[in-house]
Amino acid sequence: MRLIDHYIAGGTGGTAPARLGDVFNPSTGEVQAQVALGDAAVLERAVAAAAKAQPGWAATNPQRRARVMFEFKRLVEARMDELAELISSEHGKVIADSKGDIQRGLEVVEFALGIPHAQKGEYTQGAGPGIDVYSMRQPIGIGAGITPFNFPAMIPLWMSGVAIACGNAFILKPSERDPSTGVRLAELMLEAGAPEGILQVVHGDKEMVDAILDHPAIAAVSFVGSSDIANYVYQRGAAAGKRVQAMGGAKNHGIIMPDADLDQVVNDLCGAAYGSAGERCMALSVAVTVGEGTTERLFEKLVPAIEGLKVGVSTDPAAHFGPVVTQAHKEKIEAWIARCVAEGGELVVDGRGLVLQGHEKGFFTGPTLIDRVTPAMESYHNEIFGPVLQIVRAKDFEEAISLPSQHQYGNGVAIFTRNGHAAREFASRVNVGMVGINVPIPVPVAYHSFGGWKRSGFGDTNQHGMEGVRFWTKVKTVTARWPDGGGDGSNAFVIPTMG
Ligand code: NAD
Repeated sequence: MRLIDHYIAGGTGGTAPARLGDVFNPSTGEVQAQVALGDAAVLERAVAAAAKAQPGWAATNPQRRARVMFEFKRLVEARMDELAELISSEHGKVIADSKGDIQRGLEVVEFALGIPHAQKGEYTQGAGPGIDVYSMRQPIGIGAGITPFNFPAMIPLWMSGVAIACGNAFILKPSERDPSTGVRLAELMLEAGAPEGILQVVHGDKEMVDAILDHPAIAAVSFVGSSDIANYVYQRGAAAGKRVQAMGGAKNHGIIMPDADLDQVVNDLCGAAYGSAGERCMALSVAVTVGEGTTERLFEKLVPAIEGLKVGVSTDPAAHFGPVVTQAHKEKIEAWIARCVAEGGELVVDGRGLVLQGHEKGFFTGPTLIDRVTPAMESYHNEIFGPVLQIVRAKDFEEAISLPSQHQYGNGVAIFTRNGHAAREFASRVNVGMVGINVPIPVPVAYHSFGGWKRSGFGDTNQHGMEGVRFWTKVKTVTARWPDGGGDGSNAFVIPTMG
């Protein structure tokens, strides 16, 4: 059986792993490899290599660091097909979607090419007599990223792209479900010219995560995953004195106003609710239909569109989406559907029990649509993270805006309307971190920042863009006095003022 090993100081983990985890091919249901599950001793080796490499990398001028990132981007682009196949074989998403996963990550690397500009400090000349003040953004040192299974390229690149460009060493702990992509990216970073130890990968589960959170030499941790774990990572990391950002789960609502262009809405809903089998933190999993008759008008077009979706193996170019990540996850999704129906939801399209001929053991579940879901239901409050769209009927705009605003999650939300005033009002008032106006998946472009509110985000700094630069750097402020001789006559025993 193939072993997916750690990637430390440009080589493997070094010793035979004490524990192993199975890595499945979700399309076939077979175990295709085993991943080393590391511990504190493995992490120690990675931290030692990072500590050795980081000062020299930080001292490399930012333009040269940017050139390495440029070469890294070129290498990843040149291997797009290979990387996409790797992602699809471990995650289950279709190849085109895997390419999107890589491309969105590369856009953050593109942003990081501007690091000489983005990392510049500030300067005040003449803050007092002969006094100048300037601030610089210095790297935090060694940072770590703990990432979920659903974007094995994009999320590691959100973090490492900015962290490394800023002059840090970065240790990635990818999801143990699809761990290979992180290793391949680290190999390419070395090939691009980053020193050994600047991008390393340690695999594992809770044991490795805890080792990262407790390690005194790791200054900052970026986490993306489910909310309970995000909260745990945030608390434990902060208690250990680290800077922590921890993005959590989601339940993203799409508000469909009576005046919305329903052809556009149907197209957008199909992609946003069912694309990648709904395993996206920005998937639209709740559609709120506003006003009398809107649901019926929507269903006339939406139901046939859903019934026309093709579920297939991840290499099938005609498939709209592939299997979910594990058998256990498939069972969890289907149990939530049953729960929703038991709570009073009306099943309009039932995707449960889907079996693909020739791939009977694959982790497939078809698209599901459930109407008349209400805020009183557990299945509404929880993240299902599968190809399931719940419909909540709202009588008016006020009821519609209150639903995502009061939900425990606050990652993304969208409104579909032709009314500019309603859209503007919605964007301003809704209690959610990322808003789409006629845009179903409002993932901000790389030079803006990604982050949700409430239980979708712990910590106060978002991913990538200038928020990322702020997270991966610390500000040092220098006050310099170059008097012209003879002293300025001030009383050195009184707190200095610039007045
Ligand atoms: P997960 O929380 O199970 O795992 C995330 C990471 O935490 C993995 O690296 C995993 O090894 C580690 N982990 C798992 N259990 C742990 C434990 N008990 N203690 C310490 N570490 C542990 O999440 P997942 O299933 O891989 O990913 C799906 C989740 O991620 C969904 O909730 C989704 O909404 C969320 N997500 C959020 C965003 C965002 O930006 N808000 C983006 C993508 C995914």
